[in-house]
Amino acid sequence: MTKGVITTLQRMSVHDGPGLRTVVFMKGCNMRCRWCHNPETWNPHRQVQYIREKCIRCLSCAAVCPNQVIRPSEDGPELDFGECRACGICADACCTGAISLVGREVGVEELWNEVRKDIPYFLNSGGGVTVSGGEPVLQKDFVREFLSVCRADGINTAIETNMAVKWADLDEVSPLVDFWMCDLKMSDSEKHKKWTGADNRTVVDNILKMAAAGRRMTVRTPIIPGVNDTAGEIEEICRLLAPFSGTVSYELMGFHTLGFSKYESMGIRNELEDAECLPADQLEELKKIPVKYNL
Ligand code: SF4
Ligand code: SF4
Ligand code: SF4
Repeated sequence: MTKGVITTLQRMSVHDGPGLRTVVFMKGCNMRCRWCHNPETWNPHRQVQYIREKCIRCLSCAAVCPNQVIRPSEDGPELDFGECRACGICADACCTGAISLVGREVGVEELWNEVRKDIPYFLNSGGGVTVSGGEPVLQKDFVREFLSVCRADGINTAIETNMAVKWADLDEVSPLVDFWMCDLKMSDSEKHKKWTGADNRTVVDNILKMAAAGRRMTVRTPIIPGVNDTAGEIEEICRLLAPFSGTVSYELMGFHTLGFSKYESMGIRNELEDAECLPADQLEELKKIPVKYNL
């Protein structure tokens, strides 16, 4: 059976589809949204993570690293993330969990055995399994096999995708997906490319095709201050989605900085480090726009 690489499972989520859901975060993403709250999912491979707040500066990790990419200093270990080979020897030597590996390879059966423990919650809440990431469709063979197993046991399935993937790949997993969630981050393609690393043509095409096929779907826009926080931007997206208001719902999400500490812990530069959260009243005002379009 195909293997997949995941970062983690999140249980009892109420934000990732109907009811209570167990979310499987797949590793690997083909976008680089500057506001991303899950940068640990970008790289498709296993990686080391260092959480400074948990470190007691014993420097055991530096002593055992076979590749000498941890430099001891008065402030604790300094990792050269780019040279790390993710062998995990330092994580085994760390008694506080300050250094750990992110990403594990799982088989479908192993993952299902973990997820199936939550079936009573799914049944009581109308929930199910959501495959997220990262971009889960990049591991489509694994996702297809896993969702088939969920479906065989009557479990509701959802997928969170950035839609920046080939239509043929989406179409392949589509018969196994009850509910779709995706972002349409901004309407202007050049601007989209500047802020996410990819233009939005494939994203828009796929969303419209999926909507025309009558798939149940929630499209979301994260509202980033100074980037896409105008009424004009939201109006543009609403006009695209309005013809599908029967099956597509549209949500706006306010930008926040929760999870930004992950950037430092993964050795990734955070370009929005000093950004402010979106004021609640601004978000409420923008939320009135989709209502006008029955979205
Ligand atoms: S082994 Fe763990 S606690 Fe000790 S210095 Fe390294 S990261 Fe910090
Ligand atoms: S994962 Fe391996 S190579 Fe990377 S810092 Fe730890 S011991 Fe060194
Ligand atoms: S598509 Fe999602 S996971 Fe990928 S960079 Fe953007 S926000 Fe992060």
